Amino acid sequence: MELSNVYVRNIYSEFLKDKADILLCSLALEPLTSIRRNPSKIEQGRFREIFGEDVVEWCEDGVYLPERPSFTHDPLFHSGTYYVQEAGSMFVGHIVKHLLKDLDQDLTVLDLCAAPGGKSTDLLSVLPKSSLLVANEVIKSRCPILAENVAKWGYSNVVVTNNDPRDFSKLTSLFDIVVVDAPCSGEGMFRKDSEAIEQWSEDNVELCVARQKRILADVWPSLKEGGYLLYSTCTFNSHENDDNVEWIINELGAEIVEIPSFESILRTNMSGYQFAPGLTKSEGFFVAVLRKVSSDGETIKFKSQKGGVKSDVSINYLNDNYLYKLKGEIVKAYPMDLYQRMINIESLLHSVHSGIAVATQKGKDFIPQADLALAIDFKRGLFPEVELSKEDAIKFLSKENLLFRDAPLGYLLLTYLSQPLGFVKNLGNRSNNLHPMARRIRNVQ
Ligand code: SAM
Repeated sequence: MELSNVYVRNIYSEFLKDKADILLCSLALEPLTSIRRNPSKIEQGRFREIFGEDVVEWCEDGVYLPERPSFTHDPLFHSGTYYVQEAGSMFVGHIVKHLLKDLDQDLTVLDLCAAPGGKSTDLLSVLPKSSLLVANEVIKSRCPILAENVAKWGYSNVVVTNNDPRDFSKLTSLFDIVVVDAPCSGEGMFRKDSEAIEQWSEDNVELCVARQKRILADVWPSLKEGGYLLYSTCTFNSHENDDNVEWIINELGAEIVEIPSFESILRTNMSGYQFAPGLTKSEGFFVAVLRKVSSDGETIKFKSQKGGVKSDVSINYLNDNYLYKLKGEIVKAYPMDLYQRMINIESLLHSVHSGIAVATQKGKDFIPQADLALAIDFKRGLFPEVELSKEDAIKFLSKENLLFRDAPLGYLLLTYLSQPLGFVKNLGNRSNNLHPMARRIRNVQ
């Protein structure tokens, strides 16, 4: 597929100038594959032993893989031990770690365009556990994969919502950090997806710019004065990047924030961070950090709950302080200190996932839910564990019923390389596989 002449001309005329040749030549090369470790699930030494030492310069938890494996056939992928993410995007974690030096521990953070969950999982890894993340996705059909990836990552301090950016305008001055990883013309997808080349046009860039401004203006009132906006795209053209940053500064009221960076990351005219293939070890990413200097009034006030909140059921599957609340027959666990804030947010938005679904109540019985096994605070030792071979792990994840003749009867926690995968109910001569149907691996060869 040929790059359009207009596109090539733009690349030369914009900030890349003399470096444009390198970028354009590199577009003919194979895309890079990179993954990011879940620091709450696997130690760095063990992770690098398995996946190698080709570390992403700006993210110590990220590594490049020599080739793209079949992630579907790696049980560790399904256990939330790592996330497959373009390396440039991992700079978001680096930025937030830097911002945290001057911020409180109990932040409220919004990832506005969150599906499938790359930035959200990174944010969960770097934010203090006393902070709350709202991971939002406007397109309903993209919410299940976002909720699944968040559940696999195993954190409880998160609410996943399905709202239009304009719904956030009523949450005045609530968020300390807002991430807008905007839908864009996707020039950073050119190596991965030839359709992205086909779909590129100047008109589409202009449509994207208008949509990005609309999204930014809609969400702006929900950012606190002094709060931070991370505005990012996976594209190179300055209309969607620098021009929008300039617009945010002048029209919305913000100033640029500088973050310690790396030599291979280019700086744009508006002090954005540009990752360009051939020049940076990335497929292409742009991000700018801005501080809000305008005010949208006082932080929204929520009704406060009278009296203390108690658990609905007396179970205790997780380490730390959790409340166990019944939602229908599902028992959900919420971090005690965040519960009220989470409920308040859920009352104003369309929530599709929050806390951790730990069990289903059936009479006096509690059937463990898959997400309990994946939770980072799951108390190991509550259920007998069976370590699986890779082949059996794939069978379990494909929802086959395995036999566990030598294991105790009842619920078993299945692991692969010690990472929890999920539960079965062992009946001796057969077992019930409790892996969710919607998450089963299809097409096992
Ligand atoms: N942040 C995600 C990650 O790291 O995995 C990737 C986000 S992707 C670049 C942009 C997202 O914006 C998509 O999930 C898309 O569905 C969503 N989107 C599309 N149109 C939108 C709109 N008008 N308002 C808000 N989000 C939109």
